[in-house]
Amino acid sequence: TIPVIAIDGPSASGKGTVAQRVADKLGFHYLDSGALYRIVAYAGKQYNIAWNQGETLAEMAAKLEIRFEDGQIYLNGNIITEEVRSEEISRGASEVAVHPAVRTALLALQHSFRQAPGLVADGRDMATVVFPDAIAKVYLTASAEVRAERRYKQLKEKEIHANLQDILQDLRNRDTRDQQRATAPLQKTDDAMLLVTDQLSIDQAVEKVLQHYRQ
Ligand code: C5P
Repeated sequence: TIPVIAIDGPSASGKGTVAQRVADKLGFHYLDSGALYRIVAYAGKQYNIAWNQGETLAEMAAKLEIRFEDGQIYLNGNIITEEVRSEEISRGASEVAVHPAVRTALLALQHSFRQAPGLVADGRDMATVVFPDAIAKVYLTASAEVRAERRYKQLKEKEIHANLQDILQDLRNRDTRDQQRATAPLQKTDDAMLLVTDQLSIDQAVEKVLQHYRQ
């Protein structure tokens, strides 16, 4: 079977960057599952389907033509890489992700990323639902304060106006939604390595994941 490294954790924990680098080092494919929920939120907005309409969003999701290529996200042929990163779509993603029908609609697509020689998948339910047979599981997290600081710095570097307290509040709201939803809540599995990155650089975190995989 094709090996999968599952990396789960809360918003802004840095798991996307870490997962991508681990994939590069191993020559594995990479799945950013959060992007799929972002795309659903974005498309819902485009087609005027409210984020609380689970069944309708799921029907829509099944028909979307989604591609990841050269670091870009394509939806029905259009590049939407930047658009899906906005604060509005981030909130939308976490709202559409509560619907079981939406999650089910995205399952087959996620499984299709499992291709030789291997896959690094990042998200909230990689280890619990999508790839429970993953060969290595990592729960990557940091305190809400550290995550908010990192997000704040990133936005400032891009010269986007931001308020640290708002970011922190927003992260806490998203954490609550991710951890308390009925379907596929964010949780660490017993067989996952806990990786707290408050005091770790990206390189150090990457190294820890690689070590865990090679064990
Ligand atoms: O990881 P990212 O922040 O891009 O994910 C966007 C949203 O999608 C998250 O807030 C989370 O609620 C949802 N999500 C999910 N399951 C995943 C990945 C993301 O519910 N596997």
